[in-house]
Amino acid sequence: MQQITDDLFQDMLRWRRYLHENPELSNHESNTVDYIIKELNSFDGNFELVRPTPTSVIAKLKGNNTDKTVVLRSDIDALPIDEQTDLSFKSSKGGIMHACGHDGHTAMLLAAAKTLGEKEKEIDGQIWFLFQHAEELATGALEILSTGHLSEADYIFGVHLNNNFPVGQFGLASGRMMSASDGFSIDIKGKGGHEAMPHTTTDAIYVGTQLINAFNQVVARQVDANDQAIISVTTFNAGFANNVMPDNAKLSGCIRSFSEKTRIFLKEKMKTITDHFALVSDCNIEMKWQRGADAVINTPYLTEAVANLINEKIDDGKAVEIMPQMISEDFGSYLKEIPGNFLFVGSGNPEANIDEALHHPKFTFDEEAMKYGAALHIQTALKMSSYKEDRLFR
Ligand SMILES: [Zn+2]
Ligand SMILES: [Zn+2]
Repeated sequence: MQQITDDLFQDMLRWRRYLHENPELSNHESNTVDYIIKELNSFDGNFELVRPTPTSVIAKLKGNNTDKTVVLRSDIDALPIDEQTDLSFKSSKGGIMHACGHDGHTAMLLAAAKTLGEKEKEIDGQIWFLFQHAEELATGALEILSTGHLSEADYIFGVHLNNNFPVGQFGLASGRMMSASDGFSIDIKGKGGHEAMPHTTTDAIYVGTQLINAFNQVVARQVDANDQAIISVTTFNAGFANNVMPDNAKLSGCIRSFSEKTRIFLKEKMKTITDHFALVSDCNIEMKWQRGADAVINTPYLTEAVANLINEKIDDGKAVEIMPQMISEDFGSYLKEIPGNFLFVGSGNPEANIDEALHHPKFTFDEEAMKYGAALHIQTALKMSSYKEDRLFR
């Protein structure tokens, strides 16, 4: 990979390692955003800086005209994880870690801003570099959108490092890429008592198991098999002694879906199920549903354009087609309003033992991957800011 100069790669290493050592949780990215702004101010190019929310920033680069506005997005927040790597630039903050690669995403986007700032006069259209807060809470993207700052955007592009792919590979999906993710919690309250006389109790544990069965039945028999969905119950807490029937049980979990139709259907069906089991079992059952990330559904003609860019313009870069993933990213909220594409940048290197999954306390990535992500940002900006649409379907 010759496209990224050694100087720029050294910059990326410095940025990534500083951010890695100084991680900040979602909505607390104050030092991170100050650091980003300080670096942006040192670049050539006339960047206009806008602050949509207290811990996010958009750096706007005006090209020769304002025909097309291309947004390149990076997330900047870290996770509440206690780092277990041996890196020399390991997190200096106990219990907080960049375990999702957002330090690398930020470094790649800074590299693109620096490079394109130097080429300002050669760029048609506008390039906006969006450094977004609070991705891990799945709230940042919606907050940015609600400020109206992206209302002029024509296209939006984002990337995520991923160790499931080797360095040099990019994982792309046309259309469905990552599922929506919503949370739920259920509180079953009834009558406890002696376990030998269950008929005098409402047996909240049994009711809980019935709910789980009914949820699985809905996914298996009432959702179109072509419309992927999952309901996972991940906590189930009840009881305290082997001869006492508890008077309550609490369950919680996660719902994954792609279409808005199925997302709402599952939410409403789960409510109907809990209401009916409350009647049947003489329990009081309260279900809370919490909206999470929207599904990442890429714009097919832009996925194709990006795949062509990778194969034609990125040294040793290779685009591979991937299946939709049942994990989530709040980038999906942008794609509901703005055409765009999100993809994975391969960052795995099994020979160097770099293969941990995202959110693992030992997660790190092969820093060579940043060259590919940065090069793609640069090529995407150059191509899409003067993109002439030539397609049959909108
Ligand atoms: Zn994450
Ligand atoms: Zn992430």
